[in-house]
Amino acid sequence: MSGGDMAKPLLGHRSVEGEHSVTPAAGRTIGVLGSGDFARSLAIRLVCSGFKVVVGSRNPKRKAGLFPSAAEVTFQAEAVKKTDIIFVAVFREHYSTLCDLADVLAGKILVDVSNNTEINHHKESNAEYLASLFPACTVVKGFNVISAWTLQSGARDGNKQVLICSNNQEAKRIVAEIAQVMGFTPVDMGCMSSACEIENIPLRLLPAWKIPIFLALGLFLCFFTYNLVRQVIHPYIREQKNKFYKIPIEVVNTTLPCVAYVMLSLVYLPGVLAASSQLYYGTKYRRFPDWLDQWLQHRKQIGLLSFFCAALHAVYSLCLPMRRSHRYLLIETAVKQAVEKKMSIWIEEEVWRMEIYISVGIIALGLLSLLAITSLPSIANSLNWREFSFVQSTLGFIALVISTLHTLTYGWSRAFDENQYKFYLPPTYTLTLLVPCTVILAKVVFSLPCVHQRLLRIRRGWEKGRYVKFVLPSATGEYSSGETSSNV
Ligand code: NAP
Repeated sequence: MSGGDMAKPLLGHRSVEGEHSVTPAAGRTIGVLGSGDFARSLAIRLVCSGFKVVVGSRNPKRKAGLFPSAAEVTFQAEAVKKTDIIFVAVFREHYSTLCDLADVLAGKILVDVSNNTEINHHKESNAEYLASLFPACTVVKGFNVISAWTLQSGARDGNKQVLICSNNQEAKRIVAEIAQVMGFTPVDMGCMSSACEIENIPLRLLPAWKIPIFLALGLFLCFFTYNLVRQVIHPYIREQKNKFYKIPIEVVNTTLPCVAYVMLSLVYLPGVLAASSQLYYGTKYRRFPDWLDQWLQHRKQIGLLSFFCAALHAVYSLCLPMRRSHRYLLIETAVKQAVEKKMSIWIEEEVWRMEIYISVGIIALGLLSLLAITSLPSIANSLNWREFSFVQSTLGFIALVISTLHTLTYGWSRAFDENQYKFYLPPTYTLTLLVPCTVILAKVVFSLPCVHQRLLRIRRGWEKGRYVKFVLPSATGEYSSGETSSNV
């Protein structure tokens, strides 16, 4: 690779006035081999972006009508002759049928857009296979992460990154420029050995969500079983009362807030553990264990699942009075009251408790919605670091404190009522308080000036036990030596 190549950044400085302005790329003729869904969408997008397009098909007469009139549809060999950059919109299985074109393709850039049906389906990536079939061509892997639909829907679509890799810097730069003119954001993924990784990306199913989803399901299962035993099994065994009707709504609705609340605390617990580790070792340069690293990386997904459960809890709660069981119980209570000639069942404390916990719950849900919205890439990208950290860290922590108030006002004095201990099991809300209260307590300790200052110094690079020699001039102008911590 020449020094000149290194001097040209792949993605940076593409202003219209810049040296590599977008205008020259827009006038190029681009070839597309294949006339399927991807080729058609690609051709439409290229034409709309100001490129001349020539499509190479085995049957141009039949396929011409499917393309915009501005695109020329011709035989494969004819199309290839007219351009130096050719998108190969053909499946890997059919690459070998293009070998007849090897001579006309020599010296040209081939863009491999293909995907596989399984992760690591072949030993070598499709792009490497294409390069082995056409050694006289320069192959660039790219555009495979973009669907035919995204190509047609244009700049409105949120996912606009085009991952590109090649062993040839100049070819990669040209393809990146084309992607940029088409309205996409090219991302340099390095040399051809990355092609396999790029080809696997569209086949991965929510890779960052696996652990958080399993965590949420695990918590849901544990709390659901616990609530089932307390609310359904206990009255059935002890009082022969059939309360199985509670399973679909009531048990689920007491489980969802438990999961939401604990998940929210699990967003902040790894930060507490990381800070404790830094305080304990007196450095920020010691690597966290892998499990803590993984946990820190999944906080966004854990937070979003917490919001999801909280939102479901709100909807389930709103539906509670709609149920027939609720109406029957209400009428039953009214009849009992009439028989007993009770005029009022108003309990002031209960009324206040409910007013407060519902209001606090709504505020907590509002804050969680704000956290969820600001974690969307489009919103997060519009915030500076301080704004993002204020919302995610400060407001998030306030949401945890308010959720704790919601839980405490909901539980009220039930923890001290022995009738609430079914099969000696404490009320569910007492269990959910464990992790969040630990997090809140730790945060309070970390905010104490002596601890906070030490943590700040560590995060700015100070290390325990690392001293540097320093030399100070004395009042007489002589120099005295001593020791101090490295960054004091
Ligand atoms: P498609 O609709 O089946 O089109 C494939 C095209 O390949 C055919 O229209 C055909 O055009 C051409 N072809 C050339 N030689 C062939 C042969 N021997 N046998 C059969 N067809 C042959 O497929 P597609 O969805 O456009 O996908 C094309 C490539 O783009 C694939 O590698 C795919 O992985 C990739 N891709 C597609 C999408 C998407 O959303 N569809 C997204 C990313 C990547 P002629 O008959 O005119 O020669």
